[in-house]
Amino acid sequence: MSFQITDSHCHLGSAKFAPEEIPALIERATAAGVRRLITLATDEEDQERNLRLAQEHNEVFACLGIHPCDVHQTRDDFESLIAPHLDDPKVAAIGETGLDYFHPAPGGWNDDTYHARQRDFLRRHFELARTSGMNVVIHTRDRAGHASFEDALTIYRDFSDDVRAVFHCFPGPPEMAEKVLTLGGLISFTGIATFKNASEVVATVKAVPDNSFMLETDSPYLAPTPHRGQRCEPAYTRLTAEAIACQRGEALEELARKTEEAVRGFFRVTA
Ligand SMILES: [Zn+2]
Repeated sequence: MSFQITDSHCHLGSAKFAPEEIPALIERATAAGVRRLITLATDEEDQERNLRLAQEHNEVFACLGIHPCDVHQTRDDFESLIAPHLDDPKVAAIGETGLDYFHPAPGGWNDDTYHARQRDFLRRHFELARTSGMNVVIHTRDRAGHASFEDALTIYRDFSDDVRAVFHCFPGPPEMAEKVLTLGGLISFTGIATFKNASEVVATVKAVPDNSFMLETDSPYLAPTPHRGQRCEPAYTRLTAEAIACQRGEALEELARKTEEAVRGFFRVTA
């Protein structure tokens, strides 16, 4: 293989991937040139599962964190789930954290209390990152407008001298990306970049400078064309890479070289 890329955001701990399937999944990724997989924990249950997958497989690294959609069912001192593992060499960053104003508040919560807890958790993920010398993987999502994105940016600003953030599955136009890059952050692109109706994301793909973005699947979600709607897996990072190389008018090898540089600069990964 003349190039190698990283799936910088997947969820190998998801119930959609049976544990016995993982070796074959990694083999298919390797065969497609996807030599490194970064799997993100999301809730109380899956921190250790993701870490174990990273410890068991050379290609896999883990990020530890609580997804904004899980803050209501996570203990108040969520740091106690994460902090003990941060010295492990297979932990690559803090996440998935962030703000999700898209999904309705769960029973017993309203938007105000739910979002306030998300903001508190996000801030404390940044604090963990600062203490441990790692970076942060952020999810934002809105029903309309960009409130979760702007709020996450406001919190990031307080930490941006010491910590870098990647705004994953980047949804917006180049002006939004610019706000992240100005703070020293990164964005990453999923299979959405291959969708026909994704003109705003494609405009961002074309506009952002080298070394400002990474590639990801967010698998098992968001399978790129021609697998749209099916279960996604890390090997499909290759399809997104091909589409983005084409949109940027670059050779795949060139895109791979630059995005790998961004990955090594952002995540605590060996090699
Ligand atoms: Zn995710």
